[in-house]
Amino acid sequence: MALKNIVVVGGGTAGWMTAAALSRLREGHDLNVTLIESEMIGTVGVGEATIPPFVEFQRLLGVEEAEMMAAVQGTFKLGIQFENWGKLGDSYIHPFGNYGYPIGGITFLHIWHHFRQQGDNRPIQAFNIETMAAYFGKFAKTQDMRRDDLPPVNYAYHINATAYAGFLRKFAEKRGVVRQEGKVVDVQQDPESGFVTSVKLESGQTIAGDLFVDCSGFRGLLIEQTLETGYEDWTHWLPCNRAVALPCNRDDGSPPPPFTRATAHSAGWQWQVPLQHRNGNGHVYCDAFMDADEATDILVKNMAGKPTAEPNHLRFVTGRRKKFWNKNVIAIGLAAGFMEPLESTSIHLINTGINKLMALLSMDGVTEAQANTFNRLTVKEYEKIRDFLILHYNATTRDDSEFWNYCRTMSVPDSLTEKVELFKMNGQVFREEDELFTETSWAAVMMGQGIHMRGHNAMAEALDQEKARHELDEIEKSVRFFVQHMPGHGQYLARYCPAPAM
Ligand code: FAD
Repeated sequence: MALKNIVVVGGGTAGWMTAAALSRLREGHDLNVTLIESEMIGTVGVGEATIPPFVEFQRLLGVEEAEMMAAVQGTFKLGIQFENWGKLGDSYIHPFGNYGYPIGGITFLHIWHHFRQQGDNRPIQAFNIETMAAYFGKFAKTQDMRRDDLPPVNYAYHINATAYAGFLRKFAEKRGVVRQEGKVVDVQQDPESGFVTSVKLESGQTIAGDLFVDCSGFRGLLIEQTLETGYEDWTHWLPCNRAVALPCNRDDGSPPPPFTRATAHSAGWQWQVPLQHRNGNGHVYCDAFMDADEATDILVKNMAGKPTAEPNHLRFVTGRRKKFWNKNVIAIGLAAGFMEPLESTSIHLINTGINKLMALLSMDGVTEAQANTFNRLTVKEYEKIRDFLILHYNATTRDDSEFWNYCRTMSVPDSLTEKVELFKMNGQVFREEDELFTETSWAAVMMGQGIHMRGHNAMAEALDQEKARHELDEIEKSVRFFVQHMPGHGQYLARYCPAPAM
């Protein structure tokens, strides 16, 4: 059956990102896109930190960056600062971008380690532009410097989630997406195929479709409540299952830092996401080890200013749907699964879900081959990200609470154990099957949390040593030069994309 009507159920970040992307398909195709959302139910309203592929997603949509940033109180993000993870008092940055660049075909980390063993004690961070700019609260883009010998700056955004959904709504509606307010109360299926044929709203109105994108959040209205797809629970590896979110002012009037902060507490961790005129904060925790009152107290005591709203308490189960594409329903966003917000991967998975959907869509209809491919690729993505997240909890010497005792001693997937073993042996990190996190990401977290490489690629010794050392010096110099000449992050925002005070 030809594809003519696509229905998106849900108007949170996932729903509007999907609708905005599909709206581009309407150009040149006879396609109707309807988005159903219920103001009564609302959205989760959190999810404000992104990672670099999100910047690319805006470009694909054709969104004007400065306009979007101003509309969503946006700031730039160069990475995440982790506090108290490996042990109390620790601090490191997981930067976007790479440590240095390969020399003579050998990954920089290995060259750095080789010279370090020879007595060169410069930290690896000195060779990464994002880390150094973050330390100094600076920001600029590569093209601002008009010099192609300087390292590229990799960045993402911090956004106000509600404002972003509103921004995309305008974008999508302008391109013909029809928004339908109302609560879905019933779902009709074809008795033979089990395909969803229409949804019924509380008003009695029925909306039919050929393909349904379930963006209804944790409840998974179509993928779970209707199709009973099943959920793979990863709580034993990612035990946090609750969060309390609470925005605040920045009382000292300081400019927003160009990074997210993730501070570990005794039964979870706290995020700080700086927007132009406020901070987003939240405490993610495990309710087997802490109750909601204590979690809220800890959050309030560790915020940069006075709260600007009431605490928003959320519950979740870490894991993923057993299938993401089932019959003619594709789950995107929280309806597909959730692995916790630590590395800001949830909006990213919305993004990659949309990319896959757009690539697989055919105006000729829906086939099993599409579903199987979508599911296979998405499972791999989820599992790679899952391992990276588990690493943060497991690579610790913390023994100051029952929560950390559990995380430190839990058994982890074999795929992660192998990754850590290889890194310890000689610093090798293999990026498998297009996995999201790079060698720098894995190395940053492992070294930041006390897992160190004993050796390195033996080819580092075979390089022309003088030339290699010269390159090393040049990289460090370029990073230093660039950071010195960057404006402060606050200044950059004020000039490029100032948002009205809230
Ligand atoms: P929701 O926002 O829940 O939207 C669901 C939509 O479905 C709503 O519009 C609702 O009205 C509609 N709906 C539901 N039922 C019905 C019905 N019966 N009829 C009609 N409409 C219905 N991600 C990141 O990338 N970075 C982060 O920093 C980050 N932080 C997070 C922190 C926490 C504590 C949590 C829980 C999540 C975080 N996430 C983060 C994830 C991020 O919030 C989500 O990926 C994102 O908001 C997408 O949510 P959604 O659109 O899937 O669901």
